Amino acid sequence: MQLQKPKGTQDILPADSAKWQYVEKTARETFEKYHYGEIRTPMFEHYEVISRSVGDTTDIVTKEMYDFYDKGGRHITLRPEGTAPVVRSYVENKLFAPEVQKPVKMYYIGPMFRYERPQAGRLREFHQIGVEAFGSKNPATDAETIAMAYHFFQELGIKDVILHLNTLGNASSRAAYRQALIDYLLPMRENLSKDSQRRLEENPLRVLDSKEKEDQAAVEHAPSILDYLDEESQAHFDAVREMLEILGISYVIDTNMVRGLDYYNHTIFEFMTKVGKSELTICAGGRYDGLVDYFGGPATSGFGFGLGLERLLLVLDKQGIELPLEDGLDVYIAVLGEGANSKALELVQALRRQGFSAERDYLGRKIKAQFKSADTFKAKTLITLGETEVETGRVTVRNNSSRQETEVSLDKLMSDFTSVFAGLR
Ligand code: ATP
Ligand code: MG
Repeated sequence: MQLQKPKGTQDILPADSAKWQYVEKTARETFEKYHYGEIRTPMFEHYEVISRSVGDTTDIVTKEMYDFYDKGGRHITLRPEGTAPVVRSYVENKLFAPEVQKPVKMYYIGPMFRYERPQAGRLREFHQIGVEAFGSKNPATDAETIAMAYHFFQELGIKDVILHLNTLGNASSRAAYRQALIDYLLPMRENLSKDSQRRLEENPLRVLDSKEKEDQAAVEHAPSILDYLDEESQAHFDAVREMLEILGISYVIDTNMVRGLDYYNHTIFEFMTKVGKSELTICAGGRYDGLVDYFGGPATSGFGFGLGLERLLLVLDKQGIELPLEDGLDVYIAVLGEGANSKALELVQALRRQGFSAERDYLGRKIKAQFKSADTFKAKTLITLGETEVETGRVTVRNNSSRQETEVSLDKLMSDFTSVFAGLR
């Protein structure tokens, strides 16, 4: 029997999920400033939604899909990424209709699934935060969306974030470049890795992206896409660069960056950061002007990015960034004796109803152990409720750090703890 979690998955326990929630909240708040709304799509999709849009020859589709046939014989896959499902949804819900204001800006937060070899920062179930903007060809959308990711990293306090920028141009520029790359790589075909020999026929741009040493050596002097841009592609790229400069966002141009998905054109980008000596991609995205059309909608521009939450949290941790997490209870109630049990229940509920976070002892422990709990829970105030207090109706409330105390009636606590709490600060 296999009673452990599946390989490449993680349990996120409450101490950690506080960090997740903080990062997610920061993302939501940042994206809302840019007028994004949240979209939630299913965790699984028809296999075809992913396969051709992400690309039949990509690693994601050829090796990493969590696909299966359901009881009705449908070919289903757990979603490996967020863009294809969002585009599918955009078309299916007719968000292209003229009465829907453009651009349509949507973000998502949720799990993604890829059958990969698990390593640090590489899981089989992982989480992405992503955004998609539909219906703007304006290079300002490229610049703004990149700036939004950067803004988000700054809000979190991440250091050493470097923007890597490239363009894939439009279809004709890309076709011209593709041919140039084939002409360049063919004579050294034998030196390439097995995978790249295959890529050379199927999708030569992908050779640029290979992590194999022999491939990286081979492409070192490969022709650059920048020499194959036509007028339109050049103008778009220049405009994006100029706008990033206006916003003071520095970048490096990385012409060997092609991204692991097939649907991009024009601008593509990655944000990389340093963790120790190694560089890690934490966010990646770009423009995809053909995808809505592919899903049967009208020709519509798209721009978006996805960022890996686990990797982001890893970077926060490795960079020693302390998140301003709100922890600590407002009140802890120490309960002494069976006769105080039911009153403690009433009181703790009344405090919660008044808007305070409150906890109590349930286990009838010694007073010292209960005080220790109050410290462990970082309780701001402490109430001791014993049988005497229940009889007399008077209790002592203590500020758990300054030790300042005040005696008040139980009725007062039940109806107006706010003023008691304020008086002890
Ligand atoms: P890589 O080259 O590292 O495999 P990728 O090109 O497959 O990345 P994307 O598909 O662009 O990655 O996904 C965007 C982000 O999602 C990545 O930059 C990374 O932060 C995160 N990510 C991708 N795959 C995984 C995974 N298996 N586990 C954890 N995070 C991941
Ligand atoms: Mg990958």
